[in-house]
Amino acid sequence: MKSLSLWISLAIIFFSAIAFSLPLPIGALNDYGNVLDRHGRERVNALISDAKARYGIDVSILASWDNPYDSIDQCAYAILDGWGLGQGNTILAVFLKEGRDWKVRVLGGEQIARTHPGLAAQLEAGVSDLVVHRRVEEAMVALFAVLDTKIHASTAEEAKTKAGTNRALVVILIIVGVGLAAFAISRRICPRCGHILHRRIRPSFRSYGGEDVVYYCRHCGYARTVTRKRRPRGRGG
Ligand SMILES: [Zn+2]
Repeated sequence: MKSLSLWISLAIIFFSAIAFSLPLPIGALNDYGNVLDRHGRERVNALISDAKARYGIDVSILASWDNPYDSIDQCAYAILDGWGLGQGNTILAVFLKEGRDWKVRVLGGEQIARTHPGLAAQLEAGVSDLVVHRRVEEAMVALFAVLDTKIHASTAEEAKTKAGTNRALVVILIIVGVGLAAFAISRRICPRCGHILHRRIRPSFRSYGGEDVVYYCRHCGYARTVTRKRRPRGRGG
């Protein structure tokens, strides 16, 4: 059943590709432009599986000499749809030779546009200089270096904001803590001479069933009385 649906989707890709004379996908790396030798293919394929393993991103690459469409944009979008890369966590890099010059368009699937907005455009900007100088193989390799940088930058930024929030929280807690401590200390220090106040508890003269807590200074005789409800005392055996 699974293999049947696989065959059907392959057939759909095949026929839609034929219908619009799009190049057929032969894998993640489709070097119809003869840009890479065997060593280069191995290298780029290794980078592709690396990106998949590290970031879960499916990178597809096409290099071609002919464009059935009017512009590289149309071609790249047609391939994104035709190869079924439009929805996923996917990056598609299309390198097209027009006359003697090369052009590049990098597009992302819907999922990657959500998780890493702007990534495809950044990748394209990162390799376009090499493509302009017809260094297409280097551009393919550079694509993955830019991918590393951009993803690390975005995760570093996330960590930074998180660290910033944590630091602000710690500062607030310290301020609150110091404030509370200062308040507690000020209640237990003689406002006249600064010595520590002693505490005595006695039944209240003012409120029935209450008790007075008397804070007094042995040094200068200052006293402050706080009346409170008597604390229930444990009735021992
Ligand atoms: Zn005092």
